[in-house]
Amino acid sequence: MNAWNTARHTLLDAALALADRGFLAGVGGNLALRIDRDTFAVTPSATDYYAMTADDIAVLRLDTLKQLAGTRAPSVESGLHARLLRRRPDCRASVHTHQPVASAYSLLHRPLPVPARWQPQLGQTVPVCGYAPSGTGWLALRAAAQCGGKTRALLMANHGVLGLGRDLADASDVVVALEQAATAWFDQTLAAARTPHRHAVLTALHAFFPRPGVHDMTTPAPGLHSSPSGISRWPDVEAVNARLKALVSQPIRPIRPAHMETVLRYFEQRCQGSKALAERAKAVIPGGVQHNLAFNYPFPLAIREARGAHLTDIDGNRYIDFLQAGGPTLLGSNDPVVLEKVQQTLRECGPVTGLLHEYEVKLAELVCRHVPSVDQFRMLGSGTEAVMAAIRLARAYTGRKFVIKIGGAYHGWSDQMVYGMRIPGTGRLEAIGIPRGATAYTQESFPNNLDAIRLRLQLNRLRGGTAAVIVEPLGPESGTRPATADFNRQLRALCDEFGVLLIFDEVVSGFRTGMAGAQGYFNVKPDLTVFGKCLTGGYPMAGGIGGRKDIMQLLAGGIGGNNSKRAMVGGTLSANPLSCVAGYYALLEMEKREAAVKAGRAGDRLCDGLQDIISRLQLPYVAYNQGSVVHLQTSGVLLLNARNPLHLLREVK
Ligand code: PMP
Repeated sequence: MNAWNTARHTLLDAALALADRGFLAGVGGNLALRIDRDTFAVTPSATDYYAMTADDIAVLRLDTLKQLAGTRAPSVESGLHARLLRRRPDCRASVHTHQPVASAYSLLHRPLPVPARWQPQLGQTVPVCGYAPSGTGWLALRAAAQCGGKTRALLMANHGVLGLGRDLADASDVVVALEQAATAWFDQTLAAARTPHRHAVLTALHAFFPRPGVHDMTTPAPGLHSSPSGISRWPDVEAVNARLKALVSQPIRPIRPAHMETVLRYFEQRCQGSKALAERAKAVIPGGVQHNLAFNYPFPLAIREARGAHLTDIDGNRYIDFLQAGGPTLLGSNDPVVLEKVQQTLRECGPVTGLLHEYEVKLAELVCRHVPSVDQFRMLGSGTEAVMAAIRLARAYTGRKFVIKIGGAYHGWSDQMVYGMRIPGTGRLEAIGIPRGATAYTQESFPNNLDAIRLRLQLNRLRGGTAAVIVEPLGPESGTRPATADFNRQLRALCDEFGVLLIFDEVVSGFRTGMAGAQGYFNVKPDLTVFGKCLTGGYPMAGGIGGRKDIMQLLAGGIGGNNSKRAMVGGTLSANPLSCVAGYYALLEMEKREAAVKAGRAGDRLCDGLQDIISRLQLPYVAYNQGSVVHLQTSGVLLLNARNPLHLLREVK
């Protein structure tokens, strides 16, 4: 029963993701997923995907098509899916759509030659099967006849397309690649034909589907080992900085009142439930929100349901989730595979015992396997705690005091790290309630400036020495000022020269930019790495520290410790079965589904689309991305310049 439900939820998520691309909505289509040898799940007949629930999804026998579950009649193409899944035991999923551009190509009744960049998904040509009416056995036969061997994509004459894959994400990738390849074909053919209507036709096609990305996403990124990277390209830092500078030098403009009214009307008319809850929250929660990222103008949305890439608020409005809870939910919200394992563990031993649990070991083994710089690993309560532990460990190991961070970087909210936050050069601007002594040994250095770090390292030698340099490897504040491509490697060399520990804060980049994190992408080994967010897949107590064994041993307490010198860390819930089982299965699923690579490609597409809009409308905005971390700067507020304090004071508020 659980396998059925998992399959149905997975199908629902994949269908919605394709519907959002315009592949299903309005024009129909259907998806199927093999559950086991005898059964498969399939979307219902003639469905409105946005109203569909997991219960509507049918479970059928593969041989007889007998319906075993599902409140609605199964798709008329169930026979087609069953035949394909029977013919291709190597494929668990099939996706059939009437997506616009490839379906238009199917009217030509010819195979599609595939450009090199899409050949990994599609092969050299996509075959075509002859026309047969929808829902007939004849169509199923014709399609299956073309889907032998390793074929994964099929054009169905005068009808639509089909994608086969190891899983639904894989099959969806096939139909996406097919749409891009067909668009490229029209692009090229129309350009060669020089028809007077070329421009209009291309515009119409591109309105359905964005121009194929300008980047070859199949090129492997540099990496410490073979696990694929979620970053397919690195921003041109100089060009980004020049654009950011131009943006910041513009006067700040408010949103047009007429447009603002439209937005506010939406909230007023559609979000009364959120509004009422926000009012109650204001009375008992300072500011009415607990999370700094919770959207708060005109009031925060209250979310009732989160699944996959979608959020539904308590008024029933549905949203595409670009926030992803600030980073941890790389698999999408509430992944059913992880949920089931968590539930099972909770039933067995509850959320905490204070003793050892097998999943603590399994998670630590998994992190050590994926992140080459990590010999040993320790769970903690949050990224903030893990940063505190890393700094304490560095000081204990080196016997030195100073810690250098990059201005603007966020390393949590511990006393010593509320320094130079968000805007480089702002020092103690936000250190309200924190005594001077707490930040006395924290220093900041402007981004991408190795000479300035060298100077600090030299000066610190005379004043108690530097224990560590801590950086976010993408660049400060989740890469808001992207690190130059070679910065991390050069910083490693500089730290080695001065015998200073290098700490990578991979709370954001860990697992999101690939299973080996940003250090895998840059091919740089830090001494210590701080983890958070993705480490527990969105479940609580997301924090951990890993690194060289000789340093990590200083955390050893209890019987195993050497007792002479110990960096104290603790926490009632530090390593609890709930966080560890969630983290273990979330990471396993990320690895299995190549989640970082897929999310990275989505980030590339989103960024390309934003850039298209920006250049078409000649806006001063700046968009860039590092895999699935996508930056859109519309005011450049984080880029204000603290070197000009008067200017800063005027604008920063
Ligand atoms: N370091 C970085 C780079 C972060 O982005 C964050 C959180 N956004 C933290 C540390 C702190 O992590 P937590 O919120 O889990 O304390």
